[in-house]
Amino acid sequence: MNVPFLDFDAVFSQSKAYMHEAVERIIANKSLILGPELDAFERAFADYCGVSHCIGVGNGLDALALVLRAMSIGPGDEVIVPSQTFIATWLAVSHVGALPVEVDVEPGTTLIAPDLIEAAITPRTRAIIPVHLYGQPAEMDAICDIARRHGLFVLEDAAQAHGARYRGRRVGGFGGAAAFSFYPTKNLGACGDAGAVVTDNADLAAAVRRQRNYGSEQKYVHVVAGHNSRLDEFQACVLNAKLRDLDRLNAMRQEAAAFYHTRLAGHPNIRLPETRSDREHVYHLFVVQVPDRDRVLQHLRRVGIDAAVHYPTIPGDQEAYAFPVDRRSCATGRRTAQEALSLPFWPGIEPAQQEAVVSALFEALGHAR
Ligand SMILES: *Cc1c(COP(=O)(O)O)cnc(C)c1O
Repeated sequence: MNVPFLDFDAVFSQSKAYMHEAVERIIANKSLILGPELDAFERAFADYCGVSHCIGVGNGLDALALVLRAMSIGPGDEVIVPSQTFIATWLAVSHVGALPVEVDVEPGTTLIAPDLIEAAITPRTRAIIPVHLYGQPAEMDAICDIARRHGLFVLEDAAQAHGARYRGRRVGGFGGAAAFSFYPTKNLGACGDAGAVVTDNADLAAAVRRQRNYGSEQKYVHVVAGHNSRLDEFQACVLNAKLRDLDRLNAMRQEAAAFYHTRLAGHPNIRLPETRSDREHVYHLFVVQVPDRDRVLQHLRRVGIDAAVHYPTIPGDQEAYAFPVDRRSCATGRRTAQEALSLPFWPGIEPAQQEAVVSALFEALGHAR
């Protein structure tokens, strides 16, 4: 059986109806940018996250960068980021002229290790960006505690964790602000690029609002040298419709994850994603760690199983970050880059498809039992 990494038709068939509806509504509204659809989505998504403000922006990278910019974080400042993440977390820091300072991740969760953070803090440190990688919230209480003691700003990178909960509360309201991406394949995905910032801080919300729209609140009055990064009406309309499905789709992801957990448990050569009992993982991806990953990946592809790797090279080892900086120890992040294997996964993947993935994995790694 051939199993794609993600079944485009299964995932986007529902979006088709939403896209048609969005076109009709936008033509009726006669507004394409900063109109009623965005207002409605911003209210709905803020409510969903349990925070008071949401600002729609062009994409997830801009969501991160515009918060840093709004906080006046820039040249001479340092921002703590995890050693293993999608590179956008680091790029946001670089784009405002600050220095990303890496802190290694924990081996089982691939989330930033709270007990390594304090050693990376210097007088220039301004902020910490914990990433809720693969859909599991980082350890926010410990991280916010450290931040409070050192006067640091916390920006959640929630691009992979729409709806995930930490100690019963949804991500987005733990730090000073949170950044979301609605890239089409994310748990809440638009039909193009889109992102958002959520926060409980009214002043910060206003500053991000200015940043996304040329530094302006009132037409042709520019109080800061801002950007142009807005969430357009078409994407807002699609997102509004899809937000109503998010919890149901996340539950389907959790069901598919439980299947993999059950079938793969106990295999000596498969490290399953560790989930902490105080968190609700929404499984943006289902990432196992295996020895000799590239050989396993090749075997899977040979038999028609389209697995993937998130992410094969940690940001600090990319050419983009080849300048001399004070590299920390990031042995765990680097090891996960070598061993991580993302199994075919989407809400609605069939048990028979998952069973085919499991069989192919056992062929490659040997049966456990
Ligand atoms: C997708 C993603 C981003 C960036 O979002 P874009 O909308 O693609 O710019 C940032 N951080 C993480 C962890 C992501 O997965």
